[in-house]
Amino acid sequence: MRVYADNAATTRMRDSALKAYVETAQKFYGNPSSLYTVGQEAKSLLEDCRAEVAAVLGAQPKEITFTSGGSEADNQAILSAAHWGKLKGKTKIISSAIEHHAVLHTLNKLKKEGFEIVLLPVGSDGIVRLADLERELDDKVCLVSVMFANNEIGTLQPVEEIGKLCRERKVLFHTDAVQAVGHTAVDVGKIGCDYLALSAHKFGGPKGVGALYVRQGAPLYPLIEGGAQERGKRAGTENLPAVRAMAVALREAADTLPETERKVSALRDRLIEGLEKIPHCALNGDREKRLAGNVSFCFEGIEGESLLLLLDDRGISASSGSACTSGSLDPSHVLLAIGRVHDVAHGSLRLTLSADNTDEEIDYIIEQVPAVVQYLRNMSPVWRDLQEGKRKYIL
Ligand SMILES: *Cc1c(COP(=O)(O)O)cnc(C)c1O
Repeated sequence: MRVYADNAATTRMRDSALKAYVETAQKFYGNPSSLYTVGQEAKSLLEDCRAEVAAVLGAQPKEITFTSGGSEADNQAILSAAHWGKLKGKTKIISSAIEHHAVLHTLNKLKKEGFEIVLLPVGSDGIVRLADLERELDDKVCLVSVMFANNEIGTLQPVEEIGKLCRERKVLFHTDAVQAVGHTAVDVGKIGCDYLALSAHKFGGPKGVGALYVRQGAPLYPLIEGGAQERGKRAGTENLPAVRAMAVALREAADTLPETERKVSALRDRLIEGLEKIPHCALNGDREKRLAGNVSFCFEGIEGESLLLLLDDRGISASSGSACTSGSLDPSHVLLAIGRVHDVAHGSLRLTLSADNTDEEIDYIIEQVPAVVQYLRNMSPVWRDLQEGKRKYIL
């Protein structure tokens, strides 16, 4: 059996999106900046897509800028707010310890340029505390950037409460909603954010396209200079087939959202209950405030990488920590932030489900993971020490 359970890394393109992609590439090949009919038809389709994306998010079309994906959207939001902050003499940015590297590495760059960066801790539940944010919100702050949902442990952050605090203090608020859009209800008005990043390939659209919502009036500066596309905020001939496929995928995701969330969270709950029976393991992240498709565990006495490879041999595609950290030996910053010690953080497994997964696939994972964990533990010197009482169990 082949089971794809790594939907937080990327998703299979929806059939509707693939069809829209091909059709657009074939029929709307004109350059939207060209003045003749073929160009203007492409321009008109581009604006229809903008309206569609805006409608799903509760935004106005002119508040949507198309980008090459989530990373670019995060970079542009943060660097724009920072640039504006510098002009106003506000050089403090508050974010969280569990952000995606697209946010954390951008903040690191700003730190080297003299910005004060405060990363809020999270509780063992993987959620930031509003009191911690409130304490840091002083008149030096230009931006708060806290993600909507975490990509490794699936935890949902209190973005509406954060948005309210930021509005009261007149501080810009960016949320990386890449894991949330298309998977749970996202409304920019309810969140009260100034910036929101999304990426098509996380909800059944193509790779290499995304969008940044920018509230009307919030500062926005281009990262890429050139032509006047995207109202002068993002140069480069628009990737219309990808934008159209994204809009189609997002519309389909939005229209089927409640039933998908219900179906996927039922699969998730059954998988969690099945894997929880493995001795000396722990679920990562809050049990309730998490994405419908996210299952993340730490197993004591094993290496997540070996677990992944053996699961792959058995046809299961999963992940250990985030895809971006694989290849590095550092344990996930997210697992460390929720208090997992290094050894335990190394034994992590993330399974992220979609509506394509079936009950049979969940049964198969529930059968295979305990067997592979046991196999690895039997070979592990750490596990032997634990069993012989030479080391104390942590989980
Ligand atoms: C995938 C992801 C990104 C990056 O999006 P790309 O479109 O792959 O650049 C950013 N943030 C989060 C939370 C993600 O999961």
